[in-house]
Amino acid sequence: MIIFNRKNKTHKNKTLNRQHLADSKTQLVSQEQQEIPYVLIRSRRKSLSLTVVDDEVRVRSPYHVSKQDIDTWVQSRSLWINQQKASIKAKAEEVPSIKHDGHCYLFGVKIHIVFSDQEPQVSIQGDQVMISAIAKEPTVLFSQWLQKKAITHLSARVDHWAEIIGVATKVSQVVFKITKTKWGHCTSSGVIQLNWYLVMAPKTVIDYVVIHELCHLLVMNHSADFWAEVQQYSPHFQEHKQWLRREGHKLWL
Ligand SMILES: [Zn+2]
Repeated sequence: MIIFNRKNKTHKNKTLNRQHLADSKTQLVSQEQQEIPYVLIRSRRKSLSLTVVDDEVRVRSPYHVSKQDIDTWVQSRSLWINQQKASIKAKAEEVPSIKHDGHCYLFGVKIHIVFSDQEPQVSIQGDQVMISAIAKEPTVLFSQWLQKKAITHLSARVDHWAEIIGVATKVSQVVFKITKTKWGHCTSSGVIQLNWYLVMAPKTVIDYVVIHELCHLLVMNHSADFWAEVQQYSPHFQEHKQWLRREGHKLWL
């Protein structure tokens, strides 16, 4: 199983538990050049903590710390706050955006999206994909097109690697799903589940995920024996694991 690193999912708004915000309101720290608005959440905690979620700065504080001390503390961390905000913004801009002049990824390559009135409804030319704007739902149309490409490629890679690894007879079913928490999964009954958004990843990364799941048909855990099997077929698997952790946020529509 390959778990998706949810910390990278910057494009989905997370709703803060309103109960914790019941007695909080937006605070403001003034600096010579910058004002830092933040949401203050007081609770029975022991120390101050700071997080930046989407574009919002959240400070969690024990009840006894004064507002002035919190302001000073937030001020002292303004550089870190700015770095966090810049990093979140940069990641959000990388996430696929299915609109005219937007972008997506196909096998790790950035693809420019153009809405057009031409047939066929979705076509690709070099690093540009044309989506018919005549369609009622261009985004749905594109998603269906991408899914088809994903299933064709992933199915072929499962067949290819299952033969090489020697587990072809053990694969009972291949299922394609969008799962929010994992890229792939394998059951003891031979069901291989793959997140079809993987089609946006480089082909070497896709192969790593396929190899990983198929190797579970040899070793059902993540022991040293398991990784030794994976390494035989995907010698640079550590790089691909890191790529998924670092860049996985790009693979979501
Ligand atoms: Zn696994």
